[in-house]
Formats: sequence, structure tokens, C-alpha cells
Amino acid sequence: MNKPVAQETILIVDDEKTIRTVLSCFLNDIANVHTASDGKMAVAAAVELMPNLILLDISMPDMDGYEVCRRLKEIPQTSQIPIIFITGNDSSDDEERGLAMGAVDFIKKPCSPSVVRFRVTNVLRLHQIQRELEHLAATDPLTGTNNRRQFMMVGQTEFLRSRRYKNPLSILMMDIDDFKSINDNYGHGTGDEALKMAVNTFTSALRAEDTLGRLGGEEFAALLPESGIESACVLAERLRAAIGAAVLDTSEGSVSFTVSIGVSELKDDDDDILSVLGRADKLLYAAKENGRDRVEYTGR
Ligand code: GH3
Ligand code: MG
Ligand code: MG
Repeated sequence: MNKPVAQETILIVDDEKTIRTVLSCFLNDIANVHTASDGKMAVAAAVELMPNLILLDISMPDMDGYEVCRRLKEIPQTSQIPIIFITGNDSSDDEERGLAMGAVDFIKKPCSPSVVRFRVTNVLRLHQIQRELEHLAATDPLTGTNNRRQFMMVGQTEFLRSRRYKNPLSILMMDIDDFKSINDNYGHGTGDEALKMAVNTFTSALRAEDTLGRLGGEEFAALLPESGIESACVLAERLRAAIGAAVLDTSEGSVSFTVSIGVSELKDDDDDILSVLGRADKLLYAAKENGRDRVEYTGR
């Protein structure tokens, strides 16, 4: 029940040294424990460490725990870190205020260290499960790349960012050619391996800031922030060549295949990412019509 969870990081924030020391002692076998003695340090440490949990005192000089909590909820990267208030302020108003600010739990001092341990372990476990579920909801199980839902979410975010900063954005729609024949000739298992190889090949050729997604079957898309049509076409050619050169070794010999790609860039009158994707999809269709293993795009 109170078994240690995987090594995670906890930030303990309290202006009293004794409390920091006692809590650290009770928690350091279930997580890496860091401490902060005031609110300002706590916010800086949270941003730097990105802990899995923060134990936060309320009464502290200068900046109290409520203010620390408010600031952390405002910063996008720290807004989801679970916070447990641990405090000598034991009125139910304080408890209500703490929970209303988004804290996951509220522990009143004095408290038994083993109760703190149980509560901390529970929160860490729940958040670990939540992260796993979020990962599963975003990932294609066969290839490990983003699924359609996640790709669309990232795509819409990038669309809005490009609009706001007037930066270019391009999309590649990619579909493996004659993929059915791989399944027919070598079996579905080899087809699956070919899809994994395609994802590895795409991933190696793309830049860190690009996003790959499997939109379905043997159809993939890549989102290229900061790329106009010219650089997107250069990248598309690189992907096409890399897929054409990749070889999958199987017990029945080596398997290779090609890919067709449609490229489009964001235009001023596009309403959303689907508009860009729709154009890339039409161009992909044209690449198929024009003989496969090729890249199609439209100029500006
Ligand atoms: P085209 O060049 O026109 O794209 O031809 P194609 O054969 O690639 O396209 P088609 O849409 O006719 O066939 C796609 C095939 O992909 C059919 C489907 O069974 C297979 N497929 C879809 N998802 C998977 C998968 O997860 N694993 C395997 N092994 N095959 C899949
Ligand atoms: Mg295909
Ligand atoms: Mg297809």
C-alpha cells in the first residue's frame, strides 16, 4: 500500500528548517527531495526542477503559499504540478481556499509523518497514471508516433502560433505506395514492421521542432513550423529519398517501398489547420495520379 513509487522529485517548501528536515527524512526513500525556504525560491525551484509534487507551507514571510500556488498555476509549464498544502492554518476557510486554488490535498500541522507519506504516495501514483493515460491517448500504439488526435491538436496550436507571429508553416501529407502489396506478399506482420521502419526513417530525417503523426493506415503527416514552401519541399524530397533507400530485412528477403508526398504551406485565408491539411491531401492524390514515389506542391 505504501510501496515506494518510481524515483520522482518532490519539492518541500517551508520557512521552518525543522519541518523541511523532518519531511525530507520521511520522503527521501520514495522520491528525490528538494527544499525551498521561501516563496521566491520555491517558484524558481519549481520552474527549474519541474517536480512531480510540491508540499507547500502557507504562512511564510514575504510571499505566502497561496501566492506561490497562484504564480505556479499561472506559468504554463508548472501549472499542472500537483500541490499539497501543508500548514498550521487549520481553519476550514483556509482549506477551502487552498483546494479552490487547485491544490490536490490539504494537510494540517501537526500531522503524523506517515500520514503525509501515504498522501504523498497516493498523489504521486495518481499523477503517474494520469501521465501514462495522457501518453496513451496521444500515441499510435504500433509505431509510437503521435496519433491523429494528437497531431491535430499540435497542428492547431502551431497554426494559431504561426498566424500570431506571421511565421510560415507547412504540412507534408505522406502515403506509402502500394502498401497493400507488402501485406499481400509478406504478411501483415511484415507490413507492421514496414510501418515502424517508415516512422523511424521519417523521424531521423525531420528536425526536432517538426511533428510527425500517423493519421491512419499507411498515411502520415509532418508539421513543419517556421518552414515556407521551398524548405518544406527540400525536406519532402529528403524524406522521399530516405524512404526509397530504407530496406527492411525479413526471413523472406529484403522489403523496400516508396512514398508519395503532398506539400502545402499556410495561406492568409486559411481558417484552421484542416485547410492546410486538405490542400496537402489533394496534392498527395496528385502525386499518386502522376506515378507515385514523388513530391507534389503548389507555388505561392
Ligand atoms: P496507394 O499507392 O494507392 O496508396 O496503394 P496502397 O496499397 O498503399 O493503398 P490502399 O489504401 O489500397 O491499401 C492500404 C493498405 O494498408 C490496406 C490496409 O490493409 C493496410 N494497412 C492499414 N493499416 C495497417 C496496419 O496497421 N498494418 C498493416 N500491416 N497494414 C495496414
Ligand atoms: Mg498507400
Ligand atoms: Mg492510403
